[in-house]
Amino acid sequence: MSSIWHPFTQHGLQEPIPCVVRAEGAALYTADGRRVIDAISSWWVTTHGHAHPRIAAAIRAQAERLDQMIFAGWTHEPAEEVAAGLRAIMPAALTRVFFSDSGSTSVEVALKMALGYWLARGEPRHRILVMEHGYHGDTIGAMSVGQRGVFNRAYAPLLFDVETVPYPAAGHEQATLDALERACAAGAAAFIVEPLVLGAGGMLFYSPDMLARMREICAHHGVLFIADEVMTGWGRTGTLLACEQAGVVPDILCLSKGLTGGAVPLAVTMASEPIFAAHWSTDRARMFFHSSSYTANPIACAAAAANLAIWRDEPVRVRIARLGAAQAMRLAALEGVRNKRVLGTIAAFEVGAGEVGAGEGYLADIAPRLLAAFRERDVLLRPLGDTLYVMPPYCIDDADMDFIYNAISAVIARD
Ligand SMILES: *Cc1c(COP(=O)(O)O)cnc(C)c1O
Repeated sequence: MSSIWHPFTQHGLQEPIPCVVRAEGAALYTADGRRVIDAISSWWVTTHGHAHPRIAAAIRAQAERLDQMIFAGWTHEPAEEVAAGLRAIMPAALTRVFFSDSGSTSVEVALKMALGYWLARGEPRHRILVMEHGYHGDTIGAMSVGQRGVFNRAYAPLLFDVETVPYPAAGHEQATLDALERACAAGAAAFIVEPLVLGAGGMLFYSPDMLARMREICAHHGVLFIADEVMTGWGRTGTLLACEQAGVVPDILCLSKGLTGGAVPLAVTMASEPIFAAHWSTDRARMFFHSSSYTANPIACAAAAANLAIWRDEPVRVRIARLGAAQAMRLAALEGVRNKRVLGTIAAFEVGAGEVGAGEGYLADIAPRLLAAFRERDVLLRPLGDTLYVMPPYCIDDADMDFIYNAISAVIARD
């Protein structure tokens, strides 16, 4: 009997907990000898595939050379290499790289940078604008800027107030723009948004044009624009950053998940020079007060440097385009589902009759049923309520893609 308390798991339902002993490419291998296809990239982190030899080798070599060290006032080569590599491929205006450990902390850092910026300008602002159905992580600050609901009801008294603009559903874009315009005009520190895809909110898409127009409104009012590309970054939506598709450069950018190819935890918050400059001073009281024990852990940085090298040397963009086409073709042929949508490597759709109420959708009975059915068929898929999505590592081959979609067809036909 294990004493482990698992995340997002209801132990009272005695959900089976399979044990994985090995992973390679798009596959996980269990202790009882099954080969399970990782159709959600182990919760959106694995980009090039599990146990990529170059990333594994980088981790091993770094662990033997320099494992961990303080990062306040000290530096090391892997961190310098990652910062230089990011500067070379990320928007030029994002001149500063701040390391942390997870997507949630990259968001906390972004919010703290925004408030520090306004305080240093002698114009304190603290109101944060957010988008309906947004998700930015599970720490208190990250939950505060995310959608309220069953996930965070117990902690609601601790969450800070935000101003929410509606999700720009097709045909309702103007309501979002008007709400953002009003909120910006009233004064705000920052607007935080997931570019093009609201992930945990149900793989909800919106257009690059909307993203560009929201960015313009913020710029017009001097409200900082924070792009949370923790999920959308590293090629997920077809381009390195989702923002690229809208020609948008944010003031602050959050990256994690695919930053190390999904091998080990690491995050960065990239900031434009004015935000760094606002904290720059000879006054120690104005420094950026944030750190964690493992900030820029050298082993994690070595993995991120290997990821950057893979993006430089391997045909990653070709694999992404190929996966996108493979998704579109198979989704088009899939019957009995609603709202089919594909963006880059992400395919999503709704299953069932659509009786699920908004907001409580995640707890829909259909999700655990589907989860179990896919587990029986050796496919790792994890529905968000009645939304199913396929988001595999970029290395997946046609046979495994067919296996996933055959499993979906069979499970939907049976359900
Ligand atoms: C996953 C996610 C986060 C949180 O990242 P963690 O590493 O799980 O803390 C934040 N923002 C977005 C958009 C995410 O998808």
